[in-house]
Amino acid sequence: MPAGQIVKAISGFYYVRTPEGEEIQCRARGVFKFKKKKLTPLVGDNVEFEMTGLGEGVVTSVQPRQTELLRPPIANVEQAVVVCSLREPDFQQMPVDRFLVHGEREGLTIVICLTKRDLVSDDREVEQIRAIYEPAGYPVLATSIHTQVGLDQLKEHLNGRVSVLAGQSGVGKSSLLNRLLPGYQLQTGTVSQKLGRGRHTTRQVELLPLPSGGQVADTPGFSQLSFQGFEPGELSDYFPEFAEHAACCRFRGCLHGNEPGCEVREAVERQEIHQERYHNYLQFLDEIKQQQRRY
Ligand code: GDP
Ligand code: ZN
Repeated sequence: MPAGQIVKAISGFYYVRTPEGEEIQCRARGVFKFKKKKLTPLVGDNVEFEMTGLGEGVVTSVQPRQTELLRPPIANVEQAVVVCSLREPDFQQMPVDRFLVHGEREGLTIVICLTKRDLVSDDREVEQIRAIYEPAGYPVLATSIHTQVGLDQLKEHLNGRVSVLAGQSGVGKSSLLNRLLPGYQLQTGTVSQKLGRGRHTTRQVELLPLPSGGQVADTPGFSQLSFQGFEPGELSDYFPEFAEHAACCRFRGCLHGNEPGCEVREAVERQEIHQERYHNYLQFLDEIKQQQRRY
């Protein structure tokens, strides 16, 4: 049976790209199940299909997924590039940490990409940001679409993987995609401009092939960043630099707040964990607890 990957889905049609690079317009037949749950095919799914006509077919089976994102709905994403500008707007740590938590929870590899490097005069700020994130295991790149700095490094990270870009509006995600995908023009500019022009077209997510191999989604990941469905006890799992300390806390199930014998808090005091990362952890923990009270 021929096989391929769904790269686009539009009103009931799935566009399946074959290893030969052909695109077959497919319907789905029957009900697909995975772990006893009903499953709707998603962009990113590896599927089998039957040809029913010239360039047309039906999807007959869906392979088990490695990962599954809800916003945008894509299966088998491997990597999130968390994008944040150095200026316009200024670098903000809180939203970055929020994206990181969501990316970690989905089990994605993460790269931090700082943009608009041309708007700062030296590397000092970039180095300060590296000092926060490299101990947690995240590579930090500094890029500019104007001077081209860092773009080759970004391409190396994207090479051979399925990635989404994540980050607040205006940080330069579309601009980066336009540089990475020659011939593909996403709209850049202010939010109001983008909304104004795009209002009447429902945008569908699409996986676009990168010239050097790998794919990138044309829609940003994690557009909604609430902690709904999170348990307080899982949050620290998404701060990789906490792990070795958390393993030594006096109490099992320690939430690393005011508990006696909390090794995470001790590590913050010894400056082995970045103060601001811990601060954001506590802030997110609070949000999760409040959300739980509400439901
Ligand atoms: P998005 O909302 O994250 O997709 O951001 P856009 O790609 O639309 O970019 C927002 C604004 O930032 C646009 O006016 C871009 O021209 C500008 N911009 C993007 N990248 C850079 C960069 O590297 N340097 C500078 N100076 N401006 C940039
Ligand atoms: Zn603790």
